[in-house]
Amino acid sequence: MKIGFSFDVHPLVRGRKLVLGGIPIEHDKGLLGHSDGDVVLHALTDALLSAGGLPDIGTLFPDTDPAFKDRESSFFLLVALNKLHEKGYKVDQVDLTIVADEPKLSPYYVKMKKNLSRLLNLSEDRISLKARRTEGLIFQKDKPGIMCFALVVLTSL
Ligand code: MG
Repeated sequence: MKIGFSFDVHPLVRGRKLVLGGIPIEHDKGLLGHSDGDVVLHALTDALLSAGGLPDIGTLFPDTDPAFKDRESSFFLLVALNKLHEKGYKVDQVDLTIVADEPKLSPYYVKMKKNLSRLLNLSEDRISLKARRTEGLIFQKDKPGIMCFALVVLTSL
């Protein structure tokens, strides 16, 4: 059994679409980033790479590479999963905590979990997903953002 942990954070800005866990979220702002800025998939991908003893997401997919510009983050996740399979690992469990003061994310839990289950080829009862607010203690009103923590467990194929 292998355990991996990571987190990611991106600023929320106007003029960008918000995508979390590969699902479009209705909001007046989106996450700034070289790719689609999906912090959930970035944290998850990085935790998986970490568990597999692989280089981190920024090393494998540098944000200076035009090939990854505005790329859907599911691409990074699928590449990481392939690398894990090559090393003889499969995903056993995933625990994700999104940290955001805006927007309200609970209406999207079901959709996000379904999509994660599809991408990971993992049953939904092995995936935990929830969101927490910081009550303004982490993100300032004029500088909003979204953060995600990811913990994963791998087992041998
Ligand atoms: Mg990121």
